[in-house]
Amino acid sequence: MGEASRPVGGMDYPRTYQEFREWFADEDACIEYLAGLRWPDGFVCPHCGCGRAWRTARRLWMCAECGVKTSVTAGTIFHRSHTGLSTWFVAIWFVCSQKNGVSAQGLQRLLGFGSYETAWAWLHKLRRAMVRPDRDRLAGIVEVDESFLGGRSPGRDGSGSDKTPIMIAVERDDQHRIGRIRLEVAEAPGTLELVDFACEVIEPSATVRTDGARMFRRLAKLGYTHQPVTSYTAPDITAVLPGVHLVSSLLKR
Ligand SMILES: [Zn+2]
Repeated sequence: MGEASRPVGGMDYPRTYQEFREWFADEDACIEYLAGLRWPDGFVCPHCGCGRAWRTARRLWMCAECGVKTSVTAGTIFHRSHTGLSTWFVAIWFVCSQKNGVSAQGLQRLLGFGSYETAWAWLHKLRRAMVRPDRDRLAGIVEVDESFLGGRSPGRDGSGSDKTPIMIAVERDDQHRIGRIRLEVAEAPGTLELVDFACEVIEPSATVRTDGARMFRRLAKLGYTHQPVTSYTAPDITAVLPGVHLVSSLLKR
């Protein structure tokens, strides 16, 4: 990297904490670095594939062709985080540079988080991102849904209970057999977190089956073939997303 040029995401990595602080001094520096990682040959609109865009004041890329605005963090672990990228970058540096592992308490102290749960969730997200490269993502036909574990019985939508919401993604092959499975505890049920989860664990070329919830419609915009399965098209509730249903009942047992 030249003295005057910016570090390039995917090519340059800081060697020392001093260098790290200099490179990622503010939010814009982090965004430029991420953009280099995400679009090494320049911006590509995820909606229409066009390569021309304007940068907006809110740090988005607005496609010159279709007008859709894209955030460099869309589909990443940073997406919709209320915390700035520079804080995430510090957390990543910390997690990657500690040879003996990192605790949620350590992360909480470093970042000054009020809650242990927040630090735990961050650490969890980072570890997951680090152990799961793209080649490990589910492919083909994948069912995605939520289930609830433990505690007393939930209401119909799972609200108002102390059960733990679990996000489930299940690969199905042509013979309807179950392939690989991804499970994760959700922070809150029935939220866009489930769409994020799907994006993290499933290849963008896959076909994703979900229930008819409106939020899943955005999967199509994110490059997936989305097949909503509703109880109108399936004879009974267990026939809606049968792979997820099976995994869920095995988990409960
Ligand atoms: Zn576009």
